[in-house]
Amino acid sequence: MLYDSTRGGERGKTASQAILEGLAADGGLYVPREFPHLDVSPEELAEMDYRETAYHVMKLFLTDFSEEELRYCIDHAYDEKFDTPAVCPLHKAESAGVWFLELFHGKTIAFKDMALSILPYLLTVSAKKNHVEEEIVILTATSGDTGKAALAGFADVPGTSIIVFYPKEGVSPVQERQMITQKGENTHVIGIRGNFDDAQTGVKKIFSDKDLRKELLEAGCLFSSANSINIGRLVPQIAYYVYAYTRLIGEGVIKSGDPVNFTVPTGNFGNILAAYFAMKIGIPVRKLICASNKNNVLFDFFRTGTYDKNRTFYVTSSPSMDILVSSNLERLLYLADGRNAEETSERMKELTEKGIYSISEDMKKEMSAFVGSYSTEEEVMETIHDLYEKDRYVIDPHTAVGAHACRKYTEETNDHTPAVIASTASPYKFGRSVLHAVGNGIYDEQDDTEQFYTLEKVSSVPIPGAIQELLHAEVRHRTVTDPDKMKDAVRSWILGRRKRS
Ligand SMILES: *Cc1c(COP(=O)(O)O)cnc(C)c1O
Repeated sequence: MLYDSTRGGERGKTASQAILEGLAADGGLYVPREFPHLDVSPEELAEMDYRETAYHVMKLFLTDFSEEELRYCIDHAYDEKFDTPAVCPLHKAESAGVWFLELFHGKTIAFKDMALSILPYLLTVSAKKNHVEEEIVILTATSGDTGKAALAGFADVPGTSIIVFYPKEGVSPVQERQMITQKGENTHVIGIRGNFDDAQTGVKKIFSDKDLRKELLEAGCLFSSANSINIGRLVPQIAYYVYAYTRLIGEGVIKSGDPVNFTVPTGNFGNILAAYFAMKIGIPVRKLICASNKNNVLFDFFRTGTYDKNRTFYVTSSPSMDILVSSNLERLLYLADGRNAEETSERMKELTEKGIYSISEDMKKEMSAFVGSYSTEEEVMETIHDLYEKDRYVIDPHTAVGAHACRKYTEETNDHTPAVIASTASPYKFGRSVLHAVGNGIYDEQDDTEQFYTLEKVSSVPIPGAIQELLHAEVRHRTVTDPDKMKDAVRSWILGRRKRS
């Protein structure tokens, strides 16, 4: 299995090379040259646990990893760091008649743990395979959840260090506290006076800065990315869609071959793209419902075929989806355009220069599995409230964007295909918004700590370890900078660290 860049400049990389590079040198994203097909049946998969399922999915894409290497990565990633042996259990909400795929049982209680607990292993194995001697420096822009999950994954991993940029005013208090209390001598966290897109653009600029790369290489360092543009993030995420599908077989909800619908609360388009890849390798999917919050650029895109980021940016109660440039969409564009790298590059250039591009009718047809939907803040709050009232099940605002999209889609189309909603964060991560919705404002005056105990009472879900730790952790990162100073910040931290060691 070889990987090509969506921009055509880099071709024929092995999986481990693509993982090491993160973003291709031509600015594109790596895509597998063809789609493999599951070589075990859904019935067989239904008998397997999460790790075994992950192995049978990931081996199709990471063909230059030996069985031993891949199992080593999987076994070390999906262990007691997850608070349930199921890793990502399905929860049925009876009144709504839908299944929530709970992807938040890892260390940082958001779905990013599913990929970021394995990425450090995939990267260090890839480095060994390719005889890379340099320290791998992970650069990451975060809208909140990636940052913490990446920090937790890479902290004190030998041969790596990690720098995380986050929008100072654009993350929840719990998200910020999780990041700035991060331990590990190889971790560095920087707040940006700007939004997530500023941080992401800044990181992309640093990646494509050839002089800086050279200078750091001389100092013994190599950049890589933990953002969802890295194929090493995407591949592990395919596994949980296969797992969800085969759990429904196991529970007798569907028979092998019956279709399901997946609804995914979407930001950078990584999670839903993984669902699309699951479909490509043989999981029967009827619709992929791409759920956005008030930042509804993807909703407009799937409706009109025009992507237009020239619009107001809203800060919402689902900050991890407050994104106007969804990086992973580039992979879908490339695939839907018959892998035309030239046209994909052209569109990405238009996006950078004018903030807008359009796709052809044929491409729209290729994307017909996708349906866009979006929710206002009021709809998100109502959805959380309703589900609590009817099912005593508490969901976070991101998941609520998904739940609302799923309900709206079912009402509008009468399509009653079994529906799985990706549940992307624990309600504890966004406790303030969640309790506001659940209690219609009666808990608003409580301080953060009191709210955790209230949430424990109303949800009957014990306070997760990740939150308990936060209550006592010490702040270790205080750097704040402007977007145009990001490069200097990276340079001085890395070079300073190299000097000290
Ligand atoms: C990152 C994130 C999302 C968006 O996922 P993408 O892969 O970027 O589309 C949704 N919800 C939560 C809680 C997240 O952390």
